[in-house]
Amino acid sequence: MTSVHELIRDAAARERAGGSGAGRPQRAPHARPIALRATGASSCDSSLSRDPWAIDRDPGYGPGASTGDAVPGDAPRQGPLPARYTEASDDELHDWIVAAKAELGQRVRILGHFYQRDEVVRYADFVGDSFMLAQAAKASPDAEAFVFCGVHFMAETADILSGPDQAVILPNLAAGCSMADMATIDQVEDCWRELTAVLGDAADGAQPVIPVTYMNSSAAIKAFCGRNGGIVCTSSNARTVLEWAFARGSRVVFFPDQHLGRNTAHEMGIPEERMPLWRPHLALGGNTVEQLRDARVILWNGFCSVHKRFSVAQIERARAEHPDVRVIVHPECPADVVRAADGAGSTEYIRAQIAAAAPGEVIAVGTEINLVNRLQQQRPDLTVFCLDPVVCPCSTMYRIHPAYLAWTLESLVAGEMPNRIVVDASVAGDSRVALERMLAAKP
Ligand code: 13P
Ligand code: SF4
Repeated sequence: MTSVHELIRDAAARERAGGSGAGRPQRAPHARPIALRATGASSCDSSLSRDPWAIDRDPGYGPGASTGDAVPGDAPRQGPLPARYTEASDDELHDWIVAAKAELGQRVRILGHFYQRDEVVRYADFVGDSFMLAQAAKASPDAEAFVFCGVHFMAETADILSGPDQAVILPNLAAGCSMADMATIDQVEDCWRELTAVLGDAADGAQPVIPVTYMNSSAAIKAFCGRNGGIVCTSSNARTVLEWAFARGSRVVFFPDQHLGRNTAHEMGIPEERMPLWRPHLALGGNTVEQLRDARVILWNGFCSVHKRFSVAQIERARAEHPDVRVIVHPECPADVVRAADGAGSTEYIRAQIAAAAPGEVIAVGTEINLVNRLQQQRPDLTVFCLDPVVCPCSTMYRIHPAYLAWTLESLVAGEMPNRIVVDASVAGDSRVALERMLAAKP
């Protein structure tokens, strides 16, 4: 059988020769409806019940909370899937995935994010949060390829941290992240020029402003941070990273999630009036020179459409209905929600809290529905429910249907390399600098 390393070389040669490659399969004539989990709740978008192939032909982020956000023009687009996959039954897809996985063996690892649907997670060799998945890629030097069942920025990070001969594949190229797309590299560079003009250059070894980007951002923005004395953070180490930044500069500009930035700065005792919001379409981000000079953390105006839905009213309702309830939310939720909750942390923090809960506990969770449902299944002795009564998955993770996984694995078995995510070397080097600073930053 052709090795994956040979496939990588062949795919690169085909690309150079201008071939279409396996990333542009034929359009399928038929489609099957999405089977939403039976939660008894309504869905946040009626198009969730439409067939996935029709959704993939629509422009935009697809069904769910992100439909109002704008996909950048240069975002990768997924070609239609061959009819073999769109017309297959669930059982056929299962058999094909299992057979292809067995044939590929240890050479190919399937990585699955916590928010991925169960029909895909069941095949993953490793399941975790975005940081753990990046570490898993870094810690598997024997694997020739990673099939990354997450979203685009996570696959980019895995490519940056894995070896040069290892390939990272995203089964559906439409699996982006609406929050990551809210900050483009051009906007970030414009912001930096304006901030530098207002705040001046480094003096006395201390930078006037340190750029910090959440993992949920493009590789280009991570590279920008690497080049400019900045760093990456995740939702599990944001405070440690901000402390790292304040040891080196007077202020931080935080991309792209305003909520994670605000919640972390608040936890560190920074007052709200010293956290101006930067709106990328306005001069000075819509701020005065004085506001920027007085700032401690300048927050980019980005957010996650899934986590923005959680509210204090939902928490009050949960407490009224279950007086002993413990409320845990993700720090991408708005600040008033995080303050009203009993705890806040990354997806791994939420998983660990529920794993360690005492039997009989009632826990309301403010994060994505696929993870919440799975945590309830894993601990049937607890009552675990989502704060939001409306089913709203991460619409971009949802793009990775088992049919895409079957197509990806069978393509690899057939000697093709579909949907490889490659971060250009000119970007990867500086991104790695910012990521390595994060890995080295200790509390
Ligand atoms: P984690 O870093 O906790 O995996 O979260 C990723 C994410 O996209 C949350 O919305
Ligand atoms: Fe992006 Fe939100 Fe989905 Fe996370 S949950 S990948 S931030 S859209």
